[in-house]
Amino acid sequence: PSIFKSRESLSPEYIPDQLPHREKELRELTSYFKHLVTTPGSISQRVLITGRVGTGKTALAKVFGRDFTRLATEKGYKVRYAHVNCHRNRTLYNVIADIGRQLDVPVPSRGLSSKEMYDLILNYLDERDEYAIITLDEFHYFANISGPDAVYFIVRTYDAEELFRRLNFIFIAIDPVKLGFLDPTTEGYLLRHLVKLNPYTSQQLFDILKYRAEDSMYEGSYDDEVLRFIADFEGWDKGGGGNARHALEILHVAGSSAEADGRSRITIEDVRKAIMNTSREILSVSEAIRDSPIHELLILLSIVKLLRKTGRSELKMGEVEEEYNAVCEFYGEVPRRHTQVYEYVMNLSRTGIVQTRSSGKGQRGRSTLITLPYGPLDVLEKYLDELIRKKIQ
Ligand code: ADP
Repeated sequence: PSIFKSRESLSPEYIPDQLPHREKELRELTSYFKHLVTTPGSISQRVLITGRVGTGKTALAKVFGRDFTRLATEKGYKVRYAHVNCHRNRTLYNVIADIGRQLDVPVPSRGLSSKEMYDLILNYLDERDEYAIITLDEFHYFANISGPDAVYFIVRTYDAEELFRRLNFIFIAIDPVKLGFLDPTTEGYLLRHLVKLNPYTSQQLFDILKYRAEDSMYEGSYDDEVLRFIADFEGWDKGGGGNARHALEILHVAGSSAEADGRSRITIEDVRKAIMNTSREILSVSEAIRDSPIHELLILLSIVKLLRKTGRSELKMGEVEEEYNAVCEFYGEVPRRHTQVYEYVMNLSRTGIVQTRSSGKGQRGRSTLITLPYGPLDVLEKYLDELIRKKIQ
């Protein structure tokens, strides 16, 4: 008995053919970038997509990039698309290097500065008379880590010179936009062309689930009642998060448990269990860390393990580091040094995955105290273990 005909097409990385209920936004994007297939080089466009987690921001940009480059080719123009994840890349240099890689720009092996790399990309496109649309996904993350100067570099290298018009940008940030620390001009510049995605309603999620289920599961293994149940749980208008990824994940988990039981039909009970086992907190954390470097994950796992073991609510930096060394040994990884470990913890804290505070003055041996405000820890530990194993492979 089986449920899935294609599990991959339910995975978060998969780019579906269509995006039900995002047709209007796709048209909006197309009109923003229309100049690339009418008067290329006339401007350098910048568009910001915002929305809460799971509202389809990434999917929208990728589907747009895929369809638009195809359209351009049909019309005889050369438009390239690159999708850069700023969470994975973090620094201005890495972001620019990734753009270069995705556009197949040959890069000399000697070290280049960000600026030099950027110029190299522009000249490469210019020589080939190509234009590119670059999506900087999780841009809020880049803004937080790399700071205003880096943002300024990308956002405001604008029209002035013709060469710059080879690159056009889509920025993706979570809503509400946390770019408040930028100077008003840069922020105004970013907000000028805004595509805002609202959380999905129950009816919209139902349509999305149905569309994605048809692609990934055998007919008869699910029914409308099952899909409706998930859609009602997650629908924004029913008090849910309006998060399509969450809805799809519930469907996926429910399908897996039916399959594991040797059944070829998903029941409402499977869905109830799936909902219980995919707590919102853990899902949102899993989204926040799926691109984190391996050692950041190892540290997070150490924190989770130690919180479980000790039953305490807070941990000292020193003990986390000790646990981390043991965890590294277990996975066959060489532990990072103290300062780097500290950096990783601060990074986890900045992105809200852990909370840190300094133990009171007066106390001898002041230390950083670390805690996690969510759980359950056993589920989290299992999740992290699987993610780490996958990454180490
Ligand atoms: P975000 O970037 O806003 O967090 P994603 O684009 O990653 O959201 O979407 C989360 C998941 O939901 C992905 O698997 C995506 O393919 C799917 N999804 C989102 N919106 C739609 C839609 N309108 N139709 C089909 N699938 C969708």
